[in-house]
Amino acid sequence: MNDQSLKEGLKITKSRLRLLSEIIFLLIFSFMFWQGNIQAWALFWVVGIAVSLVFSRLYCGWVCPIGTFMRLQSWIYDKLNLRRYSVSSSAFITVLRLLFVAAFFAGMYAVRGLGWQLNIIMILVGAGLISSFFLSEDFWHRVCPHGTVLYVSTSPSKFSMNLDEDICTGCGLCEKTCPSGAITSREDSEIRKINNNECLTCHDCEKVCPVDAISYSS
Ligand code: SF4
Ligand code: SF4
Repeated sequence: MNDQSLKEGLKITKSRLRLLSEIIFLLIFSFMFWQGNIQAWALFWVVGIAVSLVFSRLYCGWVCPIGTFMRLQSWIYDKLNLRRYSVSSSAFITVLRLLFVAAFFAGMYAVRGLGWQLNIIMILVGAGLISSFFLSEDFWHRVCPHGTVLYVSTSPSKFSMNLDEDICTGCGLCEKTCPSGAITSREDSEIRKINNNECLTCHDCEKVCPVDAISYSS
């Protein structure tokens, strides 16, 4: 087996492992919901934050049930050739992001400190799914309050998606594929760069890059 087929084999294996992970965690989430114990999912949030300190936002790309639903939703939209609105203003996104994260912590305080009966996890699931009926997937990935916590916690991570600018040809396939808007062009060329804080570590860009310029590495 030559190097190229080995690389392709690894990409396929990663893709299958990711799908398996998403299915397993979606089943766990559904089971907790069915048992009336969905609040316990917060434990996965905490573990996701701890993991992100070293391995980036694996929670978002491999575990989060909202992300899994959205991936299925995007697949269906693509098959039906349906288009969604895209929010391009990064200032607007930043304001929303701050508002949502403030509301998230206020909600947490209301539940833990004041004993309010709020189901924050299901509110997030509902908000994410409703938004993605009309807006492109990257919108929710950028305003999700738990995603914002991970946006910060992933900063010191040792492992992340890295794009080799010496190999990149600027074809743009990775940018088109990225579900979170984490890939953009450099100001002075078509060569791409990755914003690792926004990256969900889904590996989709690595899968489509024709010259193997992207890899998950330290
Ligand atoms: S897909 Fe690969 S070659 Fe194309 S822009 Fe992205 S990193 Fe560069
Ligand atoms: S940069 Fe790559 S790994 Fe990160 S979210 Fe975008 S497509 Fe996924």
